[in-house]
Amino acid sequence: MTAPALLDIQQVSKRFVKPLNLGERISAWLGAQAAAQTVRAVTGVSLSVRKGEVVGLVGESGCGKSTLGRMASGIYTPSDGQVLFDGSPVARQQGRRTVKQTTRVQMVHQDPFSSLNPRMRVGDTVGEGPVTHGLVPAREADAYVARWLDRVGLDSGLRRRFPHQFSGGQRQRIAIARALAMQPDLLVLDEPVASLDVSIQAQVLNLFMDLRRDLNLTAIFISHDLGVVRHVSDRVVIMYLGRIVEVAPTPALYAAPKHPYTRALFDSVPRVGVGRQGFVPIAGEIPSPLAPPPGCHFHPRCAMAGPRCSREAPELLPVGAVGEGRLAACHLHTGGTD
Ligand code: SF4
Repeated sequence: MTAPALLDIQQVSKRFVKPLNLGERISAWLGAQAAAQTVRAVTGVSLSVRKGEVVGLVGESGCGKSTLGRMASGIYTPSDGQVLFDGSPVARQQGRRTVKQTTRVQMVHQDPFSSLNPRMRVGDTVGEGPVTHGLVPAREADAYVARWLDRVGLDSGLRRRFPHQFSGGQRQRIAIARALAMQPDLLVLDEPVASLDVSIQAQVLNLFMDLRRDLNLTAIFISHDLGVVRHVSDRVVIMYLGRIVEVAPTPALYAAPKHPYTRALFDSVPRVGVGRQGFVPIAGEIPSPLAPPPGCHFHPRCAMAGPRCSREAPELLPVGAVGEGRLAACHLHTGGTD
């Protein structure tokens, strides 16, 4: 039987208003047309994550994956729609503040150096949240922290050191320990290995897979790298310019992607031993989310585009065999592009 959804993202959108810069404000003051612009970071996205599942969220920079991750972890409230964790909203808006409603969702950020307080000893960084939230009594915090540092492969004897005294890979282990020490039910990892050397990336990915197996983790793993996501995810979600364009179980996606953007992403990855002909960069630049193209957002870069693609936005619909769990948003699967 399929496990019920732990996280249920329902038709969420997130818009940010880009205020006028100084030059634009002066122009407006002198009578020129100038108005604040709206960035549509995420538009109408629905996604659920089951207990024990790891979902990989992939796309180019600016596609909205980090914004979606921040809504999933309660750091942002959606402009529209809602994010439910175990049936309750994960965050609520209080005036201009977003109030995170649960500690059961924790986030690991891309850059551990900026996400760790440089003036706090790492033991205090890892132990502060669990003590504050009553997960462990203050008198037991030191031993609790030592256990978590050991669990992520760090020498717990180093817990009185500061973040700058560790390497990048060690800092990311500290960030993972800090998140896990909160005993979360869901982890959101935002490009957790992108800032690390390739050899260190492999170590941190292996650590994640060990933790996943031992702790039965549920996670959203955000990455721009299809190679990274393949090894850690049960299911992969591909985003383009604020929308989901394809969802598939990991083996099915890597065997036969259904969306032209996913295929273009695969083709754009250089492969060892294939030479320069072995990869084809995706044509053109990703358009600005300030003014996304009409219809299918991918149409200006899509080799398969037809007239319908610039008129009509494709819906995310089931594709492939019944029960396979595959979705794609492309007119090629619903009557063609004419
Ligand atoms: Fe390409 Fe059209 Fe499909 Fe969009 S809807 S991916 S433009 S074929």
